[in-house]
Amino acid sequence: MGGYDADFVGPISADYLCPICQLAFRDPVQTRDCGHRFCESCLEPILRKPPAFCPIDRRTLTREKVYPDRACKRTVLSLTVKCYNSGNECDWTGELINLPTHLENCKRVPIKCVNNCGRTDIPRDQMSTHVDVDGDCPLAIVPCQYTDIGCKFKGRRNEMEKHIQDNTQVHLDLAHVRIRELEQRQEYVCTNGKFLWKISNYSQLFQQSATKKEKEKLCSPPFLHRTVWLQAKSRGFP
Ligand SMILES: [Zn+2]
Ligand SMILES: [Zn+2]
Ligand SMILES: [Zn+2]
Ligand SMILES: [Zn+2]
Ligand SMILES: [Zn+2]
Repeated sequence: MGGYDADFVGPISADYLCPICQLAFRDPVQTRDCGHRFCESCLEPILRKPPAFCPIDRRTLTREKVYPDRACKRTVLSLTVKCYNSGNECDWTGELINLPTHLENCKRVPIKCVNNCGRTDIPRDQMSTHVDVDGDCPLAIVPCQYTDIGCKFKGRRNEMEKHIQDNTQVHLDLAHVRIRELEQRQEYVCTNGKFLWKISNYSQLFQQSATKKEKEKLCSPPFLHRTVWLQAKSRGFP
């Protein structure tokens, strides 16, 4: 485990650095005979294989000659540190002892995607954006892009391409239904032109129509007639 690899504010006295790991003491212990200090976890492997010797002066060491240095521990824990995410827009500073609590709440801590898409580097405060309908998580649940013409399908973003491919006919049928509805509301279209965006969506459908047969169907005279007619109607109404 070793000492604290924290981002201390200002230089840290050599008195608080473990001679084994060169980091600030974590749970420091002191040797009774020679008074040297080490992190508990740094000295443990040495004590485990007797005969043990102090790494500084080679004096004989036993577990009985080593005790926790609580005063030193308290001092190290009261040193001022920056948040680990200080390079990532978190400007928190505080005592080392309070760092774990801060990290539990730090908005800039990178965490694992809640959808398990594989990303582990998303700052906590960006997670809702990442998994949002407009975010970039491939596993976010999003509505079909043809929701406005009545497709009710919702699925993972990375399944959407397949849905579009597999349901061209369904989407075309929905578009037909919507066009018929629009025609019935022609009075409304004439007065404020609000439904015209649905027609540009229809031309998008046309571009995505996979088969020649579908395109022929879209280009059939009754359809073209309707489209041209609706466009013509729209021009007078910006
Ligand atoms: Zn150490
Ligand atoms: Zn020693
Ligand atoms: Zn922070
Ligand atoms: Zn994700
Ligand atoms: Zn759909």
